[in-house]
Amino acid sequence: MALVVQKYGGTSVGSVEKIRAVAKRVADARDAGHKVIVVLSAMAGETDRLQDLGSAVSARPAAEEMDVLLASGEQASIALLAIALKDLGHPSRSYLAHQVGIRTDADHQRARIERIDTSALRESLAAGVTPVVAGFQGIDGSGRLTTLGRGGSDTTAVAVAAAVEADECQICTDVDGVCTADPRIVADARRLDHITFEEMFELASLGSRVLHPRSVEFAGKYAVPLRVLSSFATGGGTLITVESESMEQPIVSGIAHARDEAKITMSGVPDVPGVASKILGPVGRAPIEVDMIVQNTGADGLTDFTFTVKRGDYARTLELLQPVGGELGARSISGDDQIAKVSVVGVGMRSHAGVAMRVFDTLAAENINIQMISTSEIKISVVVAERYMELAVRALHGAFELSEPNG
Ligand code: ADP
Ligand code: ASP
Ligand code: MG
Repeated sequence: MALVVQKYGGTSVGSVEKIRAVAKRVADARDAGHKVIVVLSAMAGETDRLQDLGSAVSARPAAEEMDVLLASGEQASIALLAIALKDLGHPSRSYLAHQVGIRTDADHQRARIERIDTSALRESLAAGVTPVVAGFQGIDGSGRLTTLGRGGSDTTAVAVAAAVEADECQICTDVDGVCTADPRIVADARRLDHITFEEMFELASLGSRVLHPRSVEFAGKYAVPLRVLSSFATGGGTLITVESESMEQPIVSGIAHARDEAKITMSGVPDVPGVASKILGPVGRAPIEVDMIVQNTGADGLTDFTFTVKRGDYARTLELLQPVGGELGARSISGDDQIAKVSVVGVGMRSHAGVAMRVFDTLAAENINIQMISTSEIKISVVVAERYMELAVRALHGAFELSEPNG
């Protein structure tokens, strides 16, 4: 008998039929003798709907109230699943974050889980009652609701699994597992049987929605066995593993893409110490997350400074830069919010040269202009115009032969 945490995402609980089907799957696992803790997302589209409502009321809705608003989606889905389980004759109970004791910091809309009290969950399991826990939400030290950032239910599931020392955390979703690229873009993307934590973290951070980056970080840190699999089809899905010395690592494991990017350039700023800090200071304090940064070699004592932010932060970043541009005597501030980032990830890159050249050659052959480049020892990311993003992903997937087994 195993203790398993099963997390079901939005599309998996997106309709009454699907909620009933999930209830059946949970009931089957229980009938097979396992103990199950369920973690749920809101029904598909619900969090977006709530977000739009908040944005319709105010151009800058208060983050702490947005948390109360967005967290309501999960309150509905857990109640519905608990109802469906009871209908099948399986005792179950819904739990909001504060009823479990999922404590987070007070960083609204992107809170981090600090600890989880396991007593309520353990009592429930001991009484044979399946807990159905609201994902994505937490409670801070002053008793206010928080949320973990979009896609954060995965992190709730892994944190719960770590806290109760579950035998496995299963992220049940609308694809068969982690694939070599988003199967919605690359038709012949191949499911990976396993992938290392390191690569998965990189893919998730670079835009592969299939797992929330923090969930991978958590699973690595607390050694939680983590699996991504289909909510409805059978199959082992993808196991996230620790890299072992003996494993033959593919050079490239997958391609990630992130659509919602924007870049901003301040040109003609003095090429002197302290400029980066003057430009990025107000952005960082906003706080707006900056991703790639490029500063050109100076000419005539002047230089251009370019960086990327999330598209949703674009307008606000431009606003924040106006006074800085004036202060620095910048020639111009320009930007483009129709860009995307495409990344090639693989731990095998460490021991293989030439991966970057293959990326550049492939994009050149497709006539795709590379606007920015950033590399680490296990990834290469490029910024391209958003309209070429899908073409770039498909071309790179082909160039690295990812649809072939062991490609
Ligand atoms: P859920 O609602 O279950 O949390 P998400 O939409 O957050 O599901 O994540 C699943 C989606 O992630 C898939 O439908 C797929 O389009 C996308 N995705 C992006 N990259 C990958 C990848 N490398 N492998 C599998 N799915 C991916
Ligand atoms: N419902 C939340 C969202 O849509 C959390 C999640 O689905 O993981 O972002
Ligand atoms: Mg998700």
